[in-house]
Amino acid sequence: MSRKCLRCKAEIPKTRKRSAKYCSNVCAYEVKKDRSNQVYHRHKEPYKELKRNDDILSRIYPFKQAGTLLSFEELGKLGFNFGISSKELHKGKTWKVLVHYGYTIDTETQKIDICYMGLAK
Ligand SMILES: [Zn+2]
Repeated sequence: MSRKCLRCKAEIPKTRKRSAKYCSNVCAYEVKKDRSNQVYHRHKEPYKELKRNDDILSRIYPFKQAGTLLSFEELGKLGFNFGISSKELHKGKTWKVLVHYGYTIDTETQKIDICYMGLAK
C-alpha cells in the first residue's frame, strides 16, 4: 500500500522511514515552517500586547496601593488597550487579567481598580 505525503499528496518513496508523513525533507520542512509562523502570529503578537498593557498596570499599581485609583480616561491616555485580556475572573466584579495584573472598571465612578494576580505560569 502506498502512502501519500500529507502536504503535497505525492507518493512517499519507499526509501523514506516507515513513519514518514511527507514525501521529502522539503515538505516536512515547509510544514514545520508554516506551523511556526502560525504559532508566531497567533501567540507571540497578542502576548506582546498583553505584556505591554500589563507593564502599564504595573506602573500605576503603586498609585492604587497609595489609595489613588486612576480613571478609565486617564488609563486610556497612557495608551492602555481595554480590548485585550488573557482571561476574565468573576469575583463580585468582572476582572480582566493580563499577565501579572488584573483590572476592573467601576461602572459608576469609571475608576480602575487593579490587583496583582501573582506570577503567571
Ligand atoms: Zn510532499
